[in-house]
Formats: sequence, C-alpha cells, structure tokens
Amino acid sequence: MAILVINCGSSSVKFAVFEQGSAEALVTGIVDQIGSANVGGSYKLNDGTKQKITCQVGADHTAVLAAILDALKADEALQNVAITAVGHRVVHGGEKFAEPVLIDADVLAGIRELSSLAPLHNPANADGIEAASTLFPGVPQVAVFDTAFHQTIPPHVFRYAVPDALYHEHNVRRYGFHGTSHDYVSAETIRKYDLDPVRAKVLVAHLGNGCSATAVVGGRSCDTTMGITPLEGLMMGTRSGNVDPNLHSYLAENTGMSLDEITEMLNKKSGFAGLSGISNDLRELAVAYEEGHGGARLAVEVFCFRLARELAGLTVSLDGVPDAIAFTGGIGENSKLVREKTVRYLKFLGCELDVARNEVNGGDSNGVISVEGSKGPLIAVVATNEELAIAEATAEVAQPEGN
Ligand code: AMP
Repeated sequence: MAILVINCGSSSVKFAVFEQGSAEALVTGIVDQIGSANVGGSYKLNDGTKQKITCQVGADHTAVLAAILDALKADEALQNVAITAVGHRVVHGGEKFAEPVLIDADVLAGIRELSSLAPLHNPANADGIEAASTLFPGVPQVAVFDTAFHQTIPPHVFRYAVPDALYHEHNVRRYGFHGTSHDYVSAETIRKYDLDPVRAKVLVAHLGNGCSATAVVGGRSCDTTMGITPLEGLMMGTRSGNVDPNLHSYLAENTGMSLDEITEMLNKKSGFAGLSGISNDLRELAVAYEEGHGGARLAVEVFCFRLARELAGLTVSLDGVPDAIAFTGGIGENSKLVREKTVRYLKFLGCELDVARNEVNGGDSNGVISVEGSKGPLIAVVATNEELAIAEATAEVAQPEGN
C-alpha cells in the first residue's frame, strides 16, 4: 500500500512515494528540462542512495512519467512497493475546489477550465493526471489544490476593489497559494505546542522560492498575502510581491517594455535577485550580507521589513495578537538572519526572540525560538512537508475511513 505523489510543472515532474501511514518518503525525485535536449533526472531512496533517470529527447509528461515508473520498477530496493493511489498537486482550484477530490472526467475538465487563472501550471497538472491515469489504470487519482485551504477566506478579504462584474464574469479575486503548506504547518503548530484547535490564532510565514504568509484561526485560513496570482504579497526570490498597480503602465510609457516583458521582469527578475543584483538564493545573499555587500544588505532589509508589515497586517484578520508565529520553507526553516530581523519589527505585538535558540533554528528547543516563558506569541520553526500532506490527503480521499 503506497501513495505516489506527483507535482507536474511545465518543464519538470517532481515525485515522492510514501508507504501508507509512514511520514518518511521511500523515494523522492525529479525529472526536469522537459522539452529540451537535456531532459532527465534522478531519485533518492530513504537510505540516501541516488539513481539516475534517463529519458528520451522529446519526452512529454507521459513519457517522463513512464521513464520514472520504469526506473522505480527496476530498482531492487522497491520490489515490494505497490502503488495503490496517486496524489497530484494542482495549483489552481478556483472557487470550484475547496478540498482534495477524487479525479474523474468532470474534475479533470474543471482543472483544465481553470487554466486561464494558472496558465503555466494547470495545463501541466492536467497532463500529469492524464499520463498517470494511463499508466495506472484503475488506481484512484486524487487532486490536492494549492488554493483550496484559502477557500474559507471571507469576501471582504478576498475581493479587490475593482468593478463588481470583473469578479462575476472573470473570476477576479484573491485566491492565495501554498495552501497545502499553510494547512500542514498551522496544524503541526497547533499539535506540537498544544494550542486550542478551535481558537488558536496562528500566523504562518511560508518562505521558500515563493513566499506567502497566512492568518489561520482554529485551523481555518482567514487571510493570506497572495492574490489572483502568486505575485501578490511578500517579496520573493525573483518575484517583486506588491508593487503599485500602475507600475505596468508607467514602465510601458517610460521604457517601451511590452506587457509581457514587464510581467516577466516582475516574476523572474525582481525580488532578491533584482534588488541584490547577485542572486535569488538567500544562502548566497546571507554571505554577501555579512561581507557588507550593499545590494545584499538592501535586499534582506526590504524582505524582512515587508514580511513584518504583512504579518502585522494579517493580525487584523486574526482579530488579535497571534498565539503563535510559525516560520517554514527553505528560508523560514534555515535563515536566522531573516527571522531575527523580522521578529525585531514585531516587538509591539509582544514578540521576544531567544537569540541562542534562533541561532540553531530552534533545534534544541522543539522548534521554539521565542524566549522561555514569554508572554507574547510563541515563535517557532516548523518544517513543512507538502509531499507528505498530499500523500495523507490522497490516502484519506482514495480510501475513506471505514472502507
Ligand atoms: P524552498 O522553495 O522551500 O525549497 O526554499 C528554497 C530557498 O530557501 C532557497 O532559494 C534559499 O534561498 C533558501 N534556503 C535554503 N537553505 C537555506 C539556508 N541554509 N540559509 C538561508 N536560506 C536558505
């Protein structure tokens, strides 16, 4: 009984296999550069062994998934693994999908229909579903949506102040993303620190290549920083986050850039990469920051200030001081610099950081990085695990309890 988790991007397929009921993946892997001559990848077993996956040039998602399966089937260490369900990460569920669902023809058509809201992601997700359905006939396929967790956000929070018809005719509203991670991390925070599951007010800062923060009350998302696309909100590795909505027209008039070029610049050349002029990767920037590099210092300062400002803003949706603030994702789990600078701005909420605990990512204190006995919010590093969350949701939907 094993669950295969698939995350199909436009040019990559990430995957993981979990034995049902186990939190540790048996295998994790990726094939990328689909569509190029370099298509190929590798996977890692839970004993650390790494193996290559070879794909034919020109391989599409179906061929790539078949190559992944062939590689796994041929691996002696995986001979006893039988895939009993497949879970798919799907980026946009719109308003149609508020929870994980068993995939049938209608669901697949629904995912394709939502492609206008996520043109880079939903078509690839749907291709992955079709490919997996062909390769695993009769095996239940489940879609787990990045947007679903945020469907509890109320209208006065999710609506933009633009003409009403744009919402009804063109689905213009805030949706939010990273929902699987925000759901998992807020639930973990409540569980690990024994908070009241019904009333706990938790802020989750998911800080990875993409970054978003969410206000969660009693396990329900009530506000988040991303919008109709994952560009809104926090500054990110290569994304600007919030800018003046008139920036497109200003740049078009003053630089001659096209709409596509400006959109590309805001998504791919901004954030840490754009401000620092060095890198989108905080590991590199943290070193440059210590060396006094002006661009790196500015990028880190802007990132932390904006993050703190958004977290403070989200407390309005919590209707009070948070019980806990959880840092997660590659940056949230590893960067003492970002956590320290951000929490410093939030002293007015009673936040008190324990510098020694923060230094080791809370590793000696069960993730907690706030001062022992602090009357302010508990501040913690809580590792996310989107693949595990998808595997658990898939197991639940594919095989409801009692069946
Ligand atoms: P994710 O998308 O969650 O895998 O996060 C990726 C990002 O996390 C990378 O681009 C880095 O900027 C950041 N990151 C990973 N490890 C570290 C680290 N040790 N220190 C600072 N940032 C890190």
